[in-house]
Amino acid sequence: MNKKIAIVGAGVGGLATAARLAKQGYSVEVFEKLGECGGRNHLLEDRGFKFDMGPSFVLMPDFFEEVFSYCGQDIKEYLNLRAIDPSYTIFYPGADALTVYKDSARTKDELEKIEAGSSKGFDGFIKETTRIYDAVRPLLYDCFTPRAILNPAYWGLLGKIRALESYWGLAKKFFKTEKFCYAFTFEAMFMGVSPFNAPAFYSIISYADHVQKIFHPMGSMYQIPMALEKMAKKFGVRFHYNAQVKKIRPKSGALILELDGREAAFDKVVVNADYAYAQSELLGKHLPAYKYSCSVYLIYLGLKQKVNGFAHHNLFFSKNLKRNLSQIFDEKAMPDDPSFYVHVPTVTDASLAPPGKEIFYILVPVANLQSNKEDISGYEEKLRGIIFDKISEKLGSRLEDLIEVEHRFYPKDFIDCYNIKYGATFGLAHNLMQSAFFRPANFDRTIKNLYFVGASTQPGGGLPVVIAGSRIVADLITGRPK
Ligand SMILES: Cc1cc2nc3c(=O)[nH]c(=O)nc-3n(C[C@H](O)[C@H](O)[C@H](O)COP(=O)(O)OP(=O)(O)OC[C@H]3O[C@@H](n4cnc5c(N)ncnc54)[C@H](O)[C@@H]3O)c2cc1C
Repeated sequence: MNKKIAIVGAGVGGLATAARLAKQGYSVEVFEKLGECGGRNHLLEDRGFKFDMGPSFVLMPDFFEEVFSYCGQDIKEYLNLRAIDPSYTIFYPGADALTVYKDSARTKDELEKIEAGSSKGFDGFIKETTRIYDAVRPLLYDCFTPRAILNPAYWGLLGKIRALESYWGLAKKFFKTEKFCYAFTFEAMFMGVSPFNAPAFYSIISYADHVQKIFHPMGSMYQIPMALEKMAKKFGVRFHYNAQVKKIRPKSGALILELDGREAAFDKVVVNADYAYAQSELLGKHLPAYKYSCSVYLIYLGLKQKVNGFAHHNLFFSKNLKRNLSQIFDEKAMPDDPSFYVHVPTVTDASLAPPGKEIFYILVPVANLQSNKEDISGYEEKLRGIIFDKISEKLGSRLEDLIEVEHRFYPKDFIDCYNIKYGATFGLAHNLMQSAFFRPANFDRTIKNLYFVGASTQPGGGLPVVIAGSRIVADLITGRPK
C-alpha cells in the first residue's frame, strides 16, 4: 500500500477525500493556498455579520450523510441541517410572485392561482424527474471514460435519462406558461449553464428541491467545510495553510509537489484545485477547447434592520430570460435586464447577524473572463442600480439607505482567490459533451498515481456531487468495492 498522499486544495472535495483516505489508514497531508479551508464555500465576517460567500443551498442531504457514515461518524454530531420553509420565492417582472413551499400541496395551490390546471403539470414533472433521479443517482459514484459509451449496456440509459433533450425542453412538456418553465429550470444556473443547453438529466436538481427539500446548516454554510476539516483532523490529516503548490511532477515513481522554496515527495497526489487551472498551471499541459460555466458578481450587504417580504431564497427573473442568458453565454455582454438571486439566511438563522439586523447576499450571473477581458467594472454601477431598484420596489424603501456593511466579489476574484480558470465560477460547463463520460475523469491517464476531485471533474459541480466525487477518488485509491 502506497501510504503517503498529498491533497492540493482544501475545498469541500479535498476535505472529503482527505477524511475518507485518512479513515482508511493513509497518511494524508493537505496543501491549501489560502489561510483556511472551504475554497468557494468561504465565509466573510465583518462587524457581527457572517456572510457565506459561495454556496447557499444544501440539496441532496443523503450525499452529506454518506461521507460521515463512510468515516464511521454521525453527521448530527457535526452539522445541524434544517429544512427551510418556504423553499423560495420567485419574483416575476411586474407584480406576480410564486412561492414554493416545503409542502408540495401548498406549492400546487400557488401554481393553480397563477394558471388553472398547472398542478397536474407539476405532478407529471416531479414524477419524471424522480424517475430520472433514480437512474442517475447510482452513476454519481462511478468514474467513466469516453470509451464506456461504446458499451451497449449504457445505450438504453441515455434514453432513460433523456441525455439528448434539454432541461428546458423537459419542462416544456409539462408546463404551458414559460413562467413555470423558468421556475422549474432556473436551477441549471446553479451549475453555471443555461437551462436551454443543460441536458434534461440535470433536472435531478428540481427533484432535489421539490421532493427532498432544501436545507440550511445552522451557523452558516461554512459549517460544512469546518465539519469535514474537523473529521479529517480526527483521523490524523495534517493541514498546511498558506501553502500554494506551484508545480506537480513525477520523479522515480513518486510525485513531487513544488512549493515556495521547497519540495515534498508523495506516493499519490489528489488535485482538488480547479481542474483546468491545474492542467495548465500545475502540470504544464495544453488544454482542449473546453466550454466554461458563467461567472457571477456578488454583493454582500449587512442591513441595519430586519425587512419584510423576503424568503430565505429569492429569485428575480428577467422579462426575457432567453435574451438574458444569451447576453451572458453568447454575447458576453452586460445583462441589461438581469435575473438575479437574493439570499437572506437570517430569515432562518438569526446567529448570522447582530440582533435585529439582516443579511442580503445578491448573486448576479455574468459572463466569465474567457474572451471578456473587461470584467464588469465598466458597467457595475449601472447593473447595481437596476438590481437595487428592483429590490427597493419589493421592500417599499430604498435598499441603499438600509446598508450598514457592504462587500463585493467580482469574476476576477475567483481567479485571484481560488485559481478558477477564467473566473468561471462553477468550473467547466455542464453541457452534454462535458458531462458523465465526457467530463474529465478522476484519474490522470498519463501520470500514474495522480487523481482529481472537484467541480470540474466527474461527476460534476455542486456540494453534494463534489462529495460524491471524493468517494470515487477514495474508491480508486483504496480499490474498495462500492
Ligand atoms: C457563488 C457560488 C454559489 C454556489 N451555490 C451553490 C449552492 O447553493 N449549492 C451547492 O451545492 N453548490 C453551490 N456552488 C458550487 C459549490 O460551491 C462548488 O461546486 C464547490 O464548493 C466546489 O468545491 P471544490 O472542492 O471543487 O473546489 P474549491 O472550492 O474551488 O476548492 C479548491 C481549493 O483549492 C485551492 N487551491 C487552488 N490552487 C491551489 C494551489 N496551487 N495550491 C494549493 N491550493 C490551491 C483553492 O484555494 C481552494 O480552496 C456555488 C458556488 C459559488 C462560487
